[in-house]
Amino acid sequence: MRLRSLNTQILLGAVIGIALGVGLAALGRQSPVTQNGLYVAGLIGTLFVDLLKMVLIPLVFASISVGVASLRAHRQIHRVWVATLGFFVLSMAIAIVLGLSAANIFRPGEGMQLSMFADATSAFAAKQMPLSQFFALFLHGLFQNPVTALAQGNVLAVVVFALILGIALVIGGERYKNLLLLMQELLEITLLIVGWIMRIAPLGIMALLLNLAATQDAALLATLAKFVVVVIGSTLLHGVVVLPLILYLVTGMSPLHFWRGAREALVTAFATSSSSATLPVTLRCVEQHLHVRRDIAGFVVPLGATVNMDGTALYEAAAALFVANLAGIDLNFGQQLVVFFIAMLGAIGAPGIPSAGMVTMVMVLQSVGLPVEAIAILLPIDRLLDTIRTAVNVEGDMVGSLVVQKLTVDR
Ligand code: ASP
Repeated sequence: MRLRSLNTQILLGAVIGIALGVGLAALGRQSPVTQNGLYVAGLIGTLFVDLLKMVLIPLVFASISVGVASLRAHRQIHRVWVATLGFFVLSMAIAIVLGLSAANIFRPGEGMQLSMFADATSAFAAKQMPLSQFFALFLHGLFQNPVTALAQGNVLAVVVFALILGIALVIGGERYKNLLLLMQELLEITLLIVGWIMRIAPLGIMALLLNLAATQDAALLATLAKFVVVVIGSTLLHGVVVLPLILYLVTGMSPLHFWRGAREALVTAFATSSSSATLPVTLRCVEQHLHVRRDIAGFVVPLGATVNMDGTALYEAAAALFVANLAGIDLNFGQQLVVFFIAMLGAIGAPGIPSAGMVTMVMVLQSVGLPVEAIAILLPIDRLLDTIRTAVNVEGDMVGSLVVQKLTVDR
């Protein structure tokens, strides 16, 4: 029976979770059924995310170092680097242009005033983060004692150390073949454990989405409906039209085939709102379902999970224009260009965790002199918007690995 396939179970889990969540919301927050339901769903959802995070660090560490080591052996590392970074920058640039265009056309927030949200904004203490400080922090976070980075789960620093280790493994060659073998085995055994964790994925995803659906504030959503629709619409346009089109043009792969292979990761990203937590599933999808070579996937996907965020880039640009409209400020072309670059930096710098984009959003607002307190308006709806944005972030990584494979290996 089709029901037995994990893909189908995950989709079913998602639908049932949302339906149950809406049901509980209808019962009301005070009802004991709702409270108990949310408690149990909270436990299961957290367990699932914790399990994914448990394997995340060994997986990133092993997959990047093994990926780089085997790429060097094939003398393709240079082409892979260029293709990967080129794809990341280009796809984020398209996403930002889409976000800016949608916000310019539909002008969400126009006619509303920031003062309507005075209560929210006055209660919000904005953390100022000028660009120079952000850059210094970002750079500082790249290089860390690997033991600290591994222990603290600092994904970006682990990525950087694994890249360096991978290069050293190749340059050292035969002398370090045992260490390479060890890393390969570590990678394989972590992927095996990921397979086990995926067995509870349908339940975990059901629980996460139940919680999300049951705790949304409908009244607030209605006030900000236009902005929510513009962001979701343009993010979907990027995820459903632009990325599949790039994929089709470069590799000839049909979108349906892609989605079938990518579904597990897309639904997990949607439910967890975290590219990092989804990474074990993403790697599994590209390697096992979409047949990307392990060295390419092991390099592009973990790097993409922390660096390549199309959905986040699009969101930050659109949200900046929304806040400008609320504040009654018209951003001219030059200012929008600044937003373009800072939104890209913000997306690159945001770690793959829930609502990370909100933190770097502060920087985008500051870059064009917009009131940073406006974040207080965006925060309550962020859990909802983070779902689709993270799914598109993860989709970008998967499309990226297929595109890079086509551009570097298959020719
Ligand atoms: N939650 C997003 C991710 O993990 C980052 C963001 O907040 O935009 O990809």
